[in-house]
Amino acid sequence: MSTGRLTIDLDALAANWRALDGMSDASVQTAAVVKADGYGLGVAKVGRALAAAGARRFFVAMSEEGAALRDALGPGPEISVFSGHMSGDTDMIHDLNLVPMLNSLDQLTRHFEALPGHPFGIQLDTGMNRLGMEPGEWEAIAPIALAQGPTVVMSHLACADEPEHAMNAQQLAAFHAMTDGIEAPRSLAATGGILLGPEYHFDLTRPGIGLYGGLPFEDARMVTFLDLPVVQIRDVAAGESVGYANSWVAEKPARIATLSGGYADGLQRHISNQAVLFHDDTPCPIVGRVSMDLIGVDVTHLGETPKALTILGPHQSVDDLAQVAGTIGYEILTQLGLRYTRHYARGRS
Ligand SMILES: *Cc1c(COP(=O)(O)O)cnc(C)c1O
Repeated sequence: MSTGRLTIDLDALAANWRALDGMSDASVQTAAVVKADGYGLGVAKVGRALAAAGARRFFVAMSEEGAALRDALGPGPEISVFSGHMSGDTDMIHDLNLVPMLNSLDQLTRHFEALPGHPFGIQLDTGMNRLGMEPGEWEAIAPIALAQGPTVVMSHLACADEPEHAMNAQQLAAFHAMTDGIEAPRSLAATGGILLGPEYHFDLTRPGIGLYGGLPFEDARMVTFLDLPVVQIRDVAAGESVGYANSWVAEKPARIATLSGGYADGLQRHISNQAVLFHDDTPCPIVGRVSMDLIGVDVTHLGETPKALTILGPHQSVDDLAQVAGTIGYEILTQLGLRYTRHYARGRS
């Protein structure tokens, strides 16, 4: 085996969904966001595990993702699409029973003309300026849209991972102003919004990253484990260099392990000479540049020759690695390489 081994703990994923579900009242429904192939972990396996845990409503970014999820889940669960009803998607939305979150008058018109009576939701913009209808547009459309009974009226928070940020209360007030008094179920909170507290929960929450073990859900169980196999070990003398551009030079004699895994697998070049991997509890630094398929790691201090080293595991979460890479856990997850062999485990194996 010469590719990295990615282990995805489906029990931990299910436990994270239940924990986030438990943070809101029993009257609040908890959906699951599985866009981008289940945040890089494989939407079929992730979707089925979440459905088994109790999730009945799922969200994806685009209709094509909804098609893959429908294939995995069968006809029961509701699958909603954040990007709404795009031109060309009508057949997919109809045939696979997807629920588009309509973002504009254009989309609303398209949906009502193409698929009258087909379920839909409404997405409102409360200040993020990404997707959704603005207050003026909504005011004009609301009577028509609400008469058709949307499955949900939703908006999205821009700063929910910063509880003290004034934007949260501002968007909450805007959402109230746009939706108070309507009969349709309302939804504002993703993972960060759930943690902000009950006034953000409304009728339906939409956690994503917390399910997969990422911040801001600090109490999440770890879902993703990644081990990279050692392809070759060599001894280098003081003064010898490792990797492209000679960016690391041995100050004293060293043992270098060359591991399978590189920037083509989502290990960004930015972590060259920065990140560590682990042999059990012992950190081993990356030395030299990350190349496309390989990295060099200093294992001089290990008493044995390892078969593999751990880059995501008990000592290093996706957020820890993200910090070294100057990014966020979401990006680490969704860039996990397709070359890794994926193992879906029940509990840490
Ligand atoms: C991605 C996304 C979510 C999930 O957000 P997390 O921060 O991953 O919990 C919820 N709602 C919308 C509109 C999204 O785009």
